Amino acid sequence: MIKMTVIGSSSMDLVVTALKRPNKGETILGDSFKTVPGGKGANQAVAAARLGAEVYMVGCVGGDTFGEEILNNFTSNGVITTYVEPVTHLETGTAHITLAEGDNSIIVVKGANDYVTPAYIDKALDVIVKSDIVLIQQEIPEETIEYTAKICFENSVPLLLNPAPARPISKTVIDMAAYITPNEWEASVLFENKDIHTALKEYPNKLLITEGKNGVRYNDGDNEVLVPAFPVEAVDTTGAGDTFNAAFAVAIAEGKTIKDSILFANRAASLSVTKFGAQGGMPTRKEVEENL
Ligand code: ATP
Repeated sequence: MIKMTVIGSSSMDLVVTALKRPNKGETILGDSFKTVPGGKGANQAVAAARLGAEVYMVGCVGGDTFGEEILNNFTSNGVITTYVEPVTHLETGTAHITLAEGDNSIIVVKGANDYVTPAYIDKALDVIVKSDIVLIQQEIPEETIEYTAKICFENSVPLLLNPAPARPISKTVIDMAAYITPNEWEASVLFENKDIHTALKEYPNKLLITEGKNGVRYNDGDNEVLVPAFPVEAVDTTGAGDTFNAAFAVAIAEGKTIKDSILFANRAASLSVTKFGAQGGMPTRKEVEENL
């Protein structure tokens, strides 16, 4: 069993469905409401645990009932929560999602996720340096990503940086990461002055660009390769990227080749889009292997 640390956000998604969005100053009746655990860090931790990794989550929740629910959700999915700190003076991160007129509108309140600081990372150093791989995303402060990249690099622990949501990243951080996994939009933000094929060539076997139902593009050192996605009837693509990242990290840490790790991750992600919800569709190890 490989040991993985996921450093990132945990939030509660508050999802309202309604026929339309209210105008400024207007009150309307909605159709339904539900709460669903989310956040890219939490999603990736849950996905990796379902795929059989020993997963340590490093993150923060608020001292409220959402925080408790998130902790329970980690535990019931087998994610180790020793380094998930309830921050009592802050609220849990939330995403306020309105589904109406066939589209979504989202307000994100970062809450306790802003508390995942370099000082907080120091508390989890022990487990970070003993990990087979570390996963990090960009819903936590930028300085934490830079700090983690340095720790991983100095301790020869491979770091997978999923640069989502999109924002520019320093070349130093890119150089220190072992794998970088933007989708097409994130890649265009990351390499704004560069043609994507040039960027892929510059970072062979490291830069993996996910292209939704087309699959994943990378350069193997000789050629640019597109590893096709598995064709499925997609029901909800939320969390496809999170499943891909977790599954790729599990496979590569287990010693699979880059190409086989992408195939494994494409399979896991394709299964995740056949069910509703980010975490709802994340497959188990058995489900992925039966379908490879
Ligand atoms: P999201 O933000 O929706 O979680 P993303 O934009 O980060 O996703 P994508 O590139 O859309 O990431 O998808 C990641 C991977 O998931 C793809 O490389 C592919 O393997 C798989 N995938 C996504 N959509 C589909 C689909 N419709 N059919 C099959 N596989 C898919």
